[in-house]
Amino acid sequence: MRKNVIAANWKMNTLPKEGVEIANKINHYLADKELPVNKKIVLGVPYTHLIKVVDTVDYTKIAVAAQNCSQFESGAYTGEVSAAMIKSCGAQYVIIGHSERRQYFGDTDEVISQKLSQAYKNALFPIFCCGETLRQREENVHFKVVENQLVSAFIRVDRFNFERTIIAYEPVWAIGTGVTATPEQAQEMHIFIRNVIAKIYGHDVADQTSILYGGSVNGANAKSLFECDDIDGGLVGGASLKPDEFIKIIESI
Ligand code: PEP
Repeated sequence: MRKNVIAANWKMNTLPKEGVEIANKINHYLADKELPVNKKIVLGVPYTHLIKVVDTVDYTKIAVAAQNCSQFESGAYTGEVSAAMIKSCGAQYVIIGHSERRQYFGDTDEVISQKLSQAYKNALFPIFCCGETLRQREENVHFKVVENQLVSAFIRVDRFNFERTIIAYEPVWAIGTGVTATPEQAQEMHIFIRNVIAKIYGHDVADQTSILYGGSVNGANAKSLFECDDIDGGLVGGASLKPDEFIKIIESI
């Protein structure tokens, strides 16, 4: 089912106690609200917070995500955290292919494809990020770049697993910059992404896929983005650390 999803990405911010406070506020806000079955709230938290945040929130309303996982199953990979470990903490989602991972930690298309496999094997729902840099947009290769990211990630993924996946379009130039893509720019890319998915899996699957926009979403701009036909929610960084702002974003969908 095509879901409306508001997902937080706390990145490497907050100590566990502060993270639990944020989670508590979101949980409290949702306590007396009926969430439609097609609406999901996901908190993407640091590994060290997973168990505490899972224990804090009402799992019928809020799911928890890790922000990365290892491409390996287990073994001598000092410092890595496996998809199975994430799952065992009670998390249901994992963010894969975030541009900060691609940029700073060597997450190539091949590594990202291996991470997706680990997520599927361990019954996690991946939130797969794609998006172009400013230079790529200026050079007018942004559609090609995003298409290549999608094709290389999913060409070996079967339909059953793909249907567990959420896509997040995150133009790199909009992440943490305060510069948001206009609703027109975002919608144009979201339709393009849906068409790429349709070419791989068919229109039925593409129509049911949730495609989130990420990049400087806040309480003031969320509604105009979420009103676009092909924008099914947001992946929210900075604003997700401010509970009142994040709640405004939740209310915008
Ligand atoms: C992100 O990190 O995924 C993100 C979209 O960050 P921000 O909302 O701060 O731009």
